[in-house]
Amino acid sequence: MFNNGACRCSHGGACGPRSETEAPLSDNAARYATIHKDPSSLAVPPNLADYDAACAGFSWKVAHRALSGLPNGEGLNIAYEAVDRHACGPRASRVALRCISKAGERRDYTYGELAASTNRFANGLRSLGMDAGDGVFVLLGRVPELYVAMLGALKMKCVVTPLFSAFGPEPIATRMEIGDARVLVTTETLYRRKVEALRGRLPRLEHVILVDAEEPGEGVHSWRKLTQTASDAFEIAPTDAQETALLHFTSGTTGRPKGVIHVHEAVVTHFATGLYALDLHDDDRFWCTADPGWVTGTSYGVIAPLTHGVTNIVVEAEFDAPTWYGVLAQERVTVWYTAPTAIRMMMKLGADALKDYDLSALRFAASVGEPLNAEAVVWGAEAFGLPFHDNWWQTETGGIMIANFASMDIKPGSMGRPLPGIEAAIVRRKPDGGVETADVGQEGELALKSGWPSMMRGYLHEEARYRKCFAGEWYLTGDLARCDGDGYFWFVGRADDVIKSSGHLIGPFEVESALMEHPAVAEAAVIGKPDPVAGEIVKAFVALKLGFAADEAMRKELLGNARKRLGAAVAPKEIEFRANLPKTRSGKIMRRLLKARELGLPEGDLSTLESDER
Ligand code: AMP
Repeated sequence: MFNNGACRCSHGGACGPRSETEAPLSDNAARYATIHKDPSSLAVPPNLADYDAACAGFSWKVAHRALSGLPNGEGLNIAYEAVDRHACGPRASRVALRCISKAGERRDYTYGELAASTNRFANGLRSLGMDAGDGVFVLLGRVPELYVAMLGALKMKCVVTPLFSAFGPEPIATRMEIGDARVLVTTETLYRRKVEALRGRLPRLEHVILVDAEEPGEGVHSWRKLTQTASDAFEIAPTDAQETALLHFTSGTTGRPKGVIHVHEAVVTHFATGLYALDLHDDDRFWCTADPGWVTGTSYGVIAPLTHGVTNIVVEAEFDAPTWYGVLAQERVTVWYTAPTAIRMMMKLGADALKDYDLSALRFAASVGEPLNAEAVVWGAEAFGLPFHDNWWQTETGGIMIANFASMDIKPGSMGRPLPGIEAAIVRRKPDGGVETADVGQEGELALKSGWPSMMRGYLHEEARYRKCFAGEWYLTGDLARCDGDGYFWFVGRADDVIKSSGHLIGPFEVESALMEHPAVAEAAVIGKPDPVAGEIVKAFVALKLGFAADEAMRKELLGNARKRLGAAVAPKEIEFRANLPKTRSGKIMRRLLKARELGLPEGDLSTLESDER
């Protein structure tokens, strides 16, 4: 489909075919047989029929040409590719967004209507004096205005940050501070509860647009008033593909959240991965369950499906099996992109819960965000008649990098193989700062060769932190993995201390800082504790100052406080008191040791341990 150039997993040439006698790479692999695919028996011919041929013939330059570009060769703008190019063609009257509210009401936007609404919002922003490069933050549940605001702001060439609406005030304010927010689009309730009190920390925030308020007051605008008088015609200004489009936040082991910069060119990856990894076809009804506050919900809950001109189903409600199964059945969803935590919740309910739903339209199911157990892949085949196709990527990569493709045999428990155009390898760091490639089956850090269009262009205001992610041309992902002889990648764990809970990446430092704000807390350390459904939950270890009692009332107070500040998705679920916490000689709390002890694992090298808890 996209021709020329070359690509392979870096083991591709060297590894050769996997022999039947090769040692399994994990318990998962040992327990579950490969699921063989016959491309000719799939419901529709897959976009990627022959993996090797697709890789060999791929080039990003050609992939770029599958998009329209702005009229008159004026560049590349994500919103134009997602909306306008369809709105001015035969797809104008096709449903672009079907938004299903918590009450079950549907609201449809055709591509034509979405173009008009996003134009009105773009004009509204212009009337507020916004310009290219200005930070527009959107703090909303999955309601239509979220999608209109994001795409309208992209048309204005503003830098868009969707924030997870379940965040508490602290993560919201921190991200708006770092991201230089000038505009916030939200609801009255979210604003009053989560932002208003911290507005003093946000001197650059000039305008708040409330989607549900009529007479909001000083410095606060009504969405309806702003957009109803605005023109529904808007011409996107020339856009260089390298101009910043999106700012997503992610977390590391230490320090504040990182603002990950993505440019308009990322849309090339969104389109190509929608084609290959999600196998999108013209008449699909696609549902991505992720919230746009997390990168999956933006790249694949907004951009990729719209660039393909399919109908994108948006569901406001959180997971609840009858609601989700109802959506799959009633909307005749054909391609479904979801996450391991939800799949594990469905598994708990059993395949029987599905029997009253007609899921015959579903032809492809994929999963991302955290390790997908081999059991879940196999269960998908049993319950839905389709295995879940795991894929891997992260905020920094902007799009799917490794996937199980529709046409490809699945080894349950494996993340799959690199996308055409992506070179992945397992590397080991050398003392001189460089890396060397690991052998087949050996554990090491997952690395990607730089150069795909949706690669982050930096961490905002943090050049040094960004540089540290690279060893020469390799981008180091921070994930530990292995690659087998067939070029399939297997996730092993994180190389750092970040926590993945229900698919949400949580930085321990952010949680510890919130705990430390309580006057009773002397020290705090948080770890990810394995959980059968959420993957991990946040567990905190706390040492109290002298004079404070480590009792149940204190535990409740600290948990409640953290929840209020951080929001339920980020706050710890468990707190354990300790007299003091294990530290290195330089005073760093050894989270790894706390985790090893929690899990009964070997404690590893303790040569740097200075003070111990015991
Ligand atoms: P985020 O940047 O929030 O999307 O988180 C990215 C991280 O989630 C990756 O670096 C992995 O640690 C984890 N992750 C994403 N997809 C997978 C997957 N398919 N299997 C295992 N871990 C995954």
